[in-house]
Amino acid sequence: MLLEKVKNYEIFRPKCDSSKEVLHSIATLEEDISPVFPYLNAELGGWDYNQSNQVLLLKLSEGKWITLHPREIAIRGARDMEESQALLEWIKGQINDIWERRDQIQPRYTSQAGLKVMEILKLLPLTNCKACGYATCMAYAAALREGETRLEDCPPLWEEKYREKREKLQAYLNEYGWRPLDEF
Ligand code: SF4
Repeated sequence: MLLEKVKNYEIFRPKCDSSKEVLHSIATLEEDISPVFPYLNAELGGWDYNQSNQVLLLKLSEGKWITLHPREIAIRGARDMEESQALLEWIKGQINDIWERRDQIQPRYTSQAGLKVMEILKLLPLTNCKACGYATCMAYAAALREGETRLEDCPPLWEEKYREKREKLQAYLNEYGWRPLDEF
């Protein structure tokens, strides 16, 4: 087990905007959890991974974020104490489970923040047909980068004539460990 003990756990409202109905929390740890970061990044689709500074940022649904440092877990955006605790237990479980399975996981050092909207856009049908629910292909490309929509939500992309583009787009997203937000 890589992470056994949380030394201290503090839950607070962000000072910058005390009117916000969200909580932030910080858990300080006994152990250095940074060895698991490239494996977590591979399995959970980290939003940003800075290997030299050993910081891994996970973007969850509904405006929630988890930032992992070697001896600290910061959780932003929980609705209440129960959710804050549940998110801490979830990430602790992921850290230990993924660490146990690390021999079967290919570590990843790229992250979703490296995806470029213009590269995604080039691989879309570029018809601005609005079938995805977005006004333009550019708006869809930006949402896709953020994990807020899926490839299946662009119906024309699944037509035979766009097969090559779709396969290139899937490969591009996979290279950066892209995941839709609703997988969390
Ligand atoms: S459905 Fe696809 S082609 Fe149509 S606007 Fe959306 S992204 Fe563009």
